[in-house]
Amino acid sequence: GGAGPKSAISFSSGRRERVGDVDCFELSPFSVLKLQKGDITTWFVDGSTDAIVNAANEKMLGGGGVDGAIHQAAGPELKAACYEVPEVRPGIRCPTGEARITPAFQLPVSRVIHTVGPIYGACEKPEVLLSNAYRNSLKLAKENRIQYIAFPAISCGVYRYPYDEASKIAISAIKEFPNDFKEVHFVLFSDDIYRAWLETALELM
Ligand code: ADP
Repeated sequence: GGAGPKSAISFSSGRRERVGDVDCFELSPFSVLKLQKGDITTWFVDGSTDAIVNAANEKMLGGGGVDGAIHQAAGPELKAACYEVPEVRPGIRCPTGEARITPAFQLPVSRVIHTVGPIYGACEKPEVLLSNAYRNSLKLAKENRIQYIAFPAISCGVYRYPYDEASKIAISAIKEFPNDFKEVHFVLFSDDIYRAWLETALELM
């Protein structure tokens, strides 16, 4: 898969290494943060303890952007599985900032974690909701014994979150889980977003 090597990294030159196309940062002696440009729908590590995170919407029945790409690649069973997720209010399966888990069907990973980021400019405290989306995804992954997890840039598409602010919230949330995953990846679809994430990782890691 696009995951890069599975072996532990020595970090001989400080806490950052570039391995092929992947920027690796030591989160702890047990855990690595990895940044790469790419398409999250083709990412996997072992197909059994790995998961990708979907930037879904509250209805969880598919949409555009990465949500559309994930549903397309997973096949129609994913929509059926999402439909089975109980509604918390009419039509609402995953309120903004929360997360839900499903199988991944035709995707190469074992599970999909669906989370919903805020629409930037449409709510009071978008930073709290975006942080909650990352934290609740990580909590749910941990509860399901996921060891490798990959995130897209949640809310950075049609939800218009500024990349620099979003990257700080995303990487800060990952740092709250230093020992829970072997690898936490960000698979970023555009050069602009990849650069914002790399700059923030160099600052915060
Ligand atoms: P949101 O509604 O949370 O803003 P979007 O899907 O519009 O979600 O965008 C989230 C991010 O996912 C954007 O940066 C977009 O470029 C990116 N994206 C779109 N398709 C893919 C993909 N196949 N793999 C990874 N990221 C993707």
